[in-house]
Amino acid sequence: MSSTHPVYLVFIGPPGAGKGTQAAMLEKELGLKQVSSGDLFRENLKNQTELGLLAKSYMDQGNLVPDEVTIRMVQDRLQRPDCARGVIFDGFPRTLQQASALDAMLTAQGSKIDLAPVLTVADDALMARLTGRRVCRQCGATYHVLFNPPQADGVCDACGGELYQRSDDSVETVHNRLFVYYKQTAPLIGYYYAHGLAVFIDGGQSIELVKEALLGAIQTAAST
Ligand code: ADP
Ligand code: ADP
Ligand code: ZN
Repeated sequence: MSSTHPVYLVFIGPPGAGKGTQAAMLEKELGLKQVSSGDLFRENLKNQTELGLLAKSYMDQGNLVPDEVTIRMVQDRLQRPDCARGVIFDGFPRTLQQASALDAMLTAQGSKIDLAPVLTVADDALMARLTGRRVCRQCGATYHVLFNPPQADGVCDACGGELYQRSDDSVETVHNRLFVYYKQTAPLIGYYYAHGLAVFIDGGQSIELVKEALLGAIQTAAST
């Protein structure tokens, strides 16, 4: 990607598609900052902020946090200097209203979205991924008990922190999150497709192959 202007990538895909895993790997490789709205909500919850407590009631059910607070939170995050070279959005936007708010934010600073890779994965695979997902309490790194296990059970490779299972990664909540995705977020695929930004990646492949496919798509977009 050209480094003369900040680069903005939007990763779209159902819960469990691998957005966070790939964004974390690519942020170093591409020199961009991963901005995950889910991580921001969880950080707020950990710090017992008003926003965190509000978000919790929605997250527990697998429903979306209202657009207004979500948009404000992401807008604040984008002001921080670590976003200056560009961002990989992971889990944001999730509604058409969030998507147009993001366009407006970027337009206001003279930039735009460069690419919106869509990770496609079948529902049964998503269920297996989400129920086996483990997250580091300290640094947020993501693992899977079978597909991406840490070296020592329950311990983060990166920081030694304790791994936990997200309470919304239960079978019942995952069903609702998939429903919410297809109803409220999947329309964004059409939105970005119409803008010539959507590119489809087979997210059912191994972590390494998905990463290669993403890098290929990003490089192709940068050279055209
Ligand atoms: P998302 O951010 O889209 O919800 P994650 O990146 O958290 O998804 O991945 C969900 C779970 O699936 C995690 O446990 C992760 O380790 C695992 N995972 C991610 N990508 C793959 C893949 N390509 N194959 C198998 N498991 C994967
Ligand atoms: P996933 O791994 O399923 O993609 P996230 O960590 O992105 O999960 O999101 C967890 C929860 O946080 C969502 O179910 C939702 O309640 C809330 N959330 C995250 N991002 C958004 C957003 N952009 N808009 C509204 N709610 C959000
Ligand atoms: Zn860690």
